[in-house]
Amino acid sequence: MHAEIIAVGTEILLGQIVNTNATFLSEQLAQLGIDVYYQSVVGDNAKRLAQAIKIAAKRNDLVILTGGLGPTPDDLTKQTVAAFLGKKLCQDDVAQAKMYDFFAKSKQEMAPNNLLQTMYFEDAQPLANETGLAVGIYYQAMTGADFLLLPGPPNELKPMFLHQAKPLLQKNYCSGQQLYSRVLRFFGIGESILVTKLADLIDKQTNPTIAPYAKTNEVTLRLTASADNQENAKRLLDEIEEKIKQRVGKYLYGYGDENSLPLVVVNKLKQAKLTISASESLTGGLFQKMVTDVAGASEIFAGGFVTYAKEAKANLLDIDIATLDKNGVVSFETACLMAKHTQEKLACDIAVSFTGVAGPATLENQPAGTVWIGLAQKDGSVTARKFIFPKQRELVREKAALSAFAWINEILEQKYKH
Ligand code: ATP
Ligand code: MG
Repeated sequence: MHAEIIAVGTEILLGQIVNTNATFLSEQLAQLGIDVYYQSVVGDNAKRLAQAIKIAAKRNDLVILTGGLGPTPDDLTKQTVAAFLGKKLCQDDVAQAKMYDFFAKSKQEMAPNNLLQTMYFEDAQPLANETGLAVGIYYQAMTGADFLLLPGPPNELKPMFLHQAKPLLQKNYCSGQQLYSRVLRFFGIGESILVTKLADLIDKQTNPTIAPYAKTNEVTLRLTASADNQENAKRLLDEIEEKIKQRVGKYLYGYGDENSLPLVVVNKLKQAKLTISASESLTGGLFQKMVTDVAGASEIFAGGFVTYAKEAKANLLDIDIATLDKNGVVSFETACLMAKHTQEKLACDIAVSFTGVAGPATLENQPAGTVWIGLAQKDGSVTARKFIFPKQRELVREKAALSAFAWINEILEQKYKH
């Protein structure tokens, strides 16, 4: 079973909008086990759209089109697909009633071309639009490719796909089996290394499948098992997860689509009833922002310091300026002193510090990307680690903040795990 996604819209070809619909749909289809062989983009042009449809129908089992379902003259998708299939357009009465109601309530005059949005074509199935007026269409062919037409605006496309189209695709193309997935999240390992370490598993594995995705500063693996019930799926997923953990387990920090390293760490701190603080130079408060992005962070975080300039490190953290000059601001000693004084001032369980070179210029003859992170604990222990990150300023700052979370996570796993 393989598919093609055709995004229709001149704005995409002109680079005015990004084709996020294709990204969303590709990820969704992968979850269903439907292979996407092609993604294409075509402008709002009847002739070229007809050509794209013809080519796609010839080389795929399913053709998905997004965009061009609106009421304006450049919205041509429905008419062009209907013409290709030799089907007549017909009215979806439910959608039409909703449209009349919408215009009556909003007291706007309805232009007749709006009715085009509520039309589908013979032998097809209209798909309700929860957040807009244009109906989607699903068509199963006797021979040749099936078609799915979805609206362009992502806030219409997503609910229509998830609530209407996905169950149909699952029923028609995914046998009696159900798909169950689990997302593993990794930090501190690049996608290429992760994929290399798991290459044989990824290649050989058919059930569950293993799909890697690189996100900013982390990598996720989606494991998708096809099974007849939850229990069997869990067994399959546990088995493959165990194999993955044997190879790259130390980088695994959490599970799920809606998760993040700060979220995991803040929640573990809450559970362990431990408090943290930070003093930040190059990150300018980013670490503390990430902590406080998590709801309920006040349980574990009372406050901290932003000590960007040398004088602020001296004044706010009571570090002797001569010591800073002697050791250099970007150094093991300074990172340790910052963390130690932060821990003492706020009497927290764990304090981290950040000092380094965000770039692009060098500092104290050290290249952009050089970062020292200090970590002090209530028991008096204090140490620092040096990191060399890629030179881009934003990346350096983000990686620094996240590396501190990874380090705290490590400590929580080693020291506080019961
Ligand atoms: P409308 O009723 O709004 O005209 P439509 O189904 O006709 O919807 P288009 O006219 O093609 O869709 O696009 C409408 C808007 O939807 C675009 O301006 C853009 O903001 C968004 N959009 C369209 N296609 C995509 C896409 N492939 N990825 C992301 N957004 C898109
Ligand atoms: Mg439109």
